Amino acid sequence: MRQIFVSDLHLQNERPDLVRAFLHFLDTDARRADQLYLLGDIFEAWIGDDAPFPGTEPIIAALRNLSDDGVALFFQHGNRDFLVGEQFAEEAGCTLLDDSTVITSADNRPLLLMHGDQLCTDDVEYQKLRVMLRNPMFQQNILAQTVEQRLTMAQQLRDASKEQGSQKSMAIMDVNAEAVTQALVSAETALLLHGHTHRPAVHKLQLPDNTAAQRIVLGDWDHKGWYLEWNDNGFQLIDFNIEGYAD
Ligand code: MN
Repeated sequence: MRQIFVSDLHLQNERPDLVRAFLHFLDTDARRADQLYLLGDIFEAWIGDDAPFPGTEPIIAALRNLSDDGVALFFQHGNRDFLVGEQFAEEAGCTLLDDSTVITSADNRPLLLMHGDQLCTDDVEYQKLRVMLRNPMFQQNILAQTVEQRLTMAQQLRDASKEQGSQKSMAIMDVNAEAVTQALVSAETALLLHGHTHRPAVHKLQLPDNTAAQRIVLGDWDHKGWYLEWNDNGFQLIDFNIEGYAD
């Protein structure tokens, strides 16, 4: 049994190197897995399954191909691609996961999967925005708008997030320790895997009942790419060079 996890690729038209790296990844490392988990912000922006950004087709086709060849694909929403829906899932051969999902790791332990944005509770402003963006009624309203209107809104959200991000401290942008503990306790697990913060690491912590727990953080794809591989012997956080994928 071999599981692979990735998040925060932020695939976009402006970064053909990342798209190439991901397509290569899907055709090599991911192909050797039994399960591939896409844990959010795979796409820099997503304004609806009816309007995928230019250049998405080969990605969807490659995912579909992998799924047809027997790799089970799972997709969890990030704060950028929260509008990914059933149509995408069907086309790409993925199963959509809830924002908090407990799976069984390859070495047979309960493992909590999250994108991670919901753990950044010190960022009160963002958590308020998140409640609105994740509201099904609000999403229906967005999806009913024209593609142009949605593109404008997506750009505004990105600009606002960049502007606020530059003003917020590194601590506010990271996960809140209490939120992490709470998530683990309520999921009854001692293992959490998430992305979002772009701070790849394996953290040790202790739960209130003194259980030793671990929080594994995936890295984002930029100059380097990251994935987590989990097999019968445990897990390994792996990075590789993206530089080779420039033209
Ligand atoms: Mn994110």
